[in-house]
Amino acid sequence: MYDIEALYEARSLDHAIALLEEHPDARIIAGGSDILIQIREGRLAGAKLVSIQKLDELRGISRSEDGAIRIGALTSFSHIAQNPLIQAHLGVLVQAVSSIGGPQIRNIGTIGGNTCNGVSSADSAATLMALDALMEYRGPQGRRVLPIQAHYVGAGKTALAHAELLTAISIPKESYHACYGCYLKYAMRNALDIATLGCSVNLRLSQDKQRLERVRIGFGVAGPVPIRAPHAEAALKGKALSEETLREAGTAVLLDVQPRSSWRASRELRLQLVEELTKRALRCSIRHAGGIL
Ligand SMILES: Cc1cc2nc3c(=O)[nH]c(=O)nc-3n(C[C@H](O)[C@H](O)[C@H](O)COP(=O)(O)OP(=O)(O)OC[C@H]3O[C@@H](n4cnc5c(N)ncnc54)[C@H](O)[C@@H]3O)c2cc1C
Repeated sequence: MYDIEALYEARSLDHAIALLEEHPDARIIAGGSDILIQIREGRLAGAKLVSIQKLDELRGISRSEDGAIRIGALTSFSHIAQNPLIQAHLGVLVQAVSSIGGPQIRNIGTIGGNTCNGVSSADSAATLMALDALMEYRGPQGRRVLPIQAHYVGAGKTALAHAELLTAISIPKESYHACYGCYLKYAMRNALDIATLGCSVNLRLSQDKQRLERVRIGFGVAGPVPIRAPHAEAALKGKALSEETLREAGTAVLLDVQPRSSWRASRELRLQLVEELTKRALRCSIRHAGGIL
C-alpha cells in the first residue's frame, strides 16, 4: 500500500508548473521507480504528487539545428537505448542506461528521474557529465539552461527551484562528433544493483590516431554528487597513446575524487576502483576510436 495524500495529474507543462505552485509541498512523479519506493518505505509517507506521466511533450529524442541531441526528460531508458540517433552517435549512453536495473525498471524509469533524484550513483549521470550535457529547466520564471555540473548542488540536491521541472537534456555536437566513450559500472552483482562506482570516458583522438586530443572523465559514487576529473583530463590532453599514459591517468584521477566509505564499499576500495576503472574505460574508448595501445 502506498500512503499518498493526493495525486494531481498534469495536462500540460504549464499545468504542471501551476499545480506545483498551487501545492508547494507536492513532489513530481515521473516513472515513480524512485519516489514510490520512498513512499512505501515511509520516508515520503503522506506525500502529495504531481504526475507528469502524460506529458508527451517531455518525451522523445531529436536533433537540434546546431547538431545537439536533445532527450526529453520523460524518455525512458528503454527508448533511449533503442533510439537510432542515440545508437549512431552516443553508444556510451546506450551502455550506461542499459546497465540500470532490469528490463521493467528500464521501461518505466526516466532519464529525468535519474538526474533529478540528485543521487551520485545514478548510472546515466557519470556519462552525461563526460558528455558535457546541458540541463533544460522550465518553471514559473520561464526557461533556463544549466551545464550538468551546476545541476548537482549537493548530495541528493539539484539546482531546480520550487515549481521548476527538468524538461530535456541536450548533448552538444562537440561532445559526440568523432568522439568515442565507454561506461564501466562496478557493482556487487551483474544486474539489478546500484553502482559501487561508475566511470565514464568520452574522448577524441588526433587525426593520425596517435594522441589524445580531448578527454572527458565522469564518475558516479566518487564524491557526494556525480563529478568530472579535471586534473586527469588536463594531464591527458595531447598525450601519446600508451600504457604509460593510462598509468599516469590512473594516478592523476585520484586528485579529483572524494569517495566515502559506505556499507557497499570502503573509501580505500573505491579509490582502487577509481584508478582501475579509469584505465580500463580509457583503454576501451581508445579501442573504439580506432587507436592502438
Ligand atoms: C529495482 C530497482 C533497481 C534500480 N536500479 C538502478 C540502477 O541500476 N541504476 C540507477 O541509476 N538507478 C536505479 N534505480 C533507480 C531508478 O529506477 C532510477 O533513478 C530512475 O531513473 C528514476 O526515474 P523515474 O522516472 O522512475 O523517477 P521518479 O521516481 O518518478 O522521480 C525521481 C525523482 O526525480 C524527480 N523528478 C522526476 N522527473 C523530474 C523532472 N522532469 N523534473 C524535475 N524533477 C523530476 C521526482 O520528484 C523525484 O524526486 C533502480 C530502482 C529500482 C526500484
